[in-house]
Amino acid sequence: MKPFAYLRATEPSTAIQAATSNQTKFIAGGTNLLDLMKEGVEQPDRLVDITRINLSQIQPISNGVRIGALAKNSDTANHPLIRTRYPLLSQALLAGASPQLRNMASVGGNLMQRTRCYYFYDMSMPCNKRQPGSGCAAIEGYNRIHAILGTSDKCIATHPSDMCVALAALDAVVQVSGPKGERAIPFSEFHRLPGDTPQIDTVLQQGELIVAVDLPNSPFAERSHYLKVRDRASYAFALVSVASALDINNGTILQARMALGGVAHKPWRSVEAEKILVGAKPNEQTFRAAADATLKGAKGYKYNAFKVEMAKRAIVRSLTIATEGTAV
Ligand code: SF4
Repeated sequence: MKPFAYLRATEPSTAIQAATSNQTKFIAGGTNLLDLMKEGVEQPDRLVDITRINLSQIQPISNGVRIGALAKNSDTANHPLIRTRYPLLSQALLAGASPQLRNMASVGGNLMQRTRCYYFYDMSMPCNKRQPGSGCAAIEGYNRIHAILGTSDKCIATHPSDMCVALAALDAVVQVSGPKGERAIPFSEFHRLPGDTPQIDTVLQQGELIVAVDLPNSPFAERSHYLKVRDRASYAFALVSVASALDINNGTILQARMALGGVAHKPWRSVEAEKILVGAKPNEQTFRAAADATLKGAKGYKYNAFKVEMAKRAIVRSLTIATEGTAV
């Protein structure tokens, strides 16, 4: 591992001031960054340890709930406010990683984790995300875990998070603080599609620190479901996942949210599905139409074409379970 300087910050301002170059990285749980550093994929000159900053509270705010960026994934999943008001988020968090990792990993870090594309971690292979301009080994390679929506000819990686799929469906807002002040970023705008610059995962600017994630008040506590399809029953990334949330009254869907994981470079919010669902009866025909609309522009590669049909079936199943109601 390349030698690096280490600094511990106790205030956001100190951390932000220390992050003067892109060779500086913030570190909290380190559950992804340390692996990347050991492999040589990330080679920062300086790590700024932010774990002593007071940013781990989960508390009600006027229009919802605020989750501090340093709240642990396990604490967030089990917090009464999250379990009762946002069970979708709790389910997604508990579907991810292992209990040990969830005890270390932070909410902010979850947003910043990088793809698990095998070629991104293999320093002997071309990878535009790791080394811009070197090529993409996955497009003609073994691409079973890769994206089917929003890809480019530069990168077909997926975003690995479960939590972020639920946050996309719940219309979360990312609160950041940086050298130019504070700003709020709608969740759907936080992560990027690969385009010509797959090395850039998010819209964060140099020195910006995630301080919180806000969840707006939600009518979906009673009917939501996170469905994760994966190769093992636990400790595996999603091949396909679906976060669905419905507000149903008198047999009609009043509001709907849907996001998918494991299919794109970012959590994939399906506005197309939501348009079909709102105003319709919650039945299999409606759900199949929503699934078809979501996957309309999907493109499978040699080893992952199965994901298109898998995603459609997962959408129908997730919506069916959500309709039946969530135990809160
Ligand atoms: Fe790299 Fe993206 Fe291609 Fe994977 S899919 S090898 S991360 S450029």
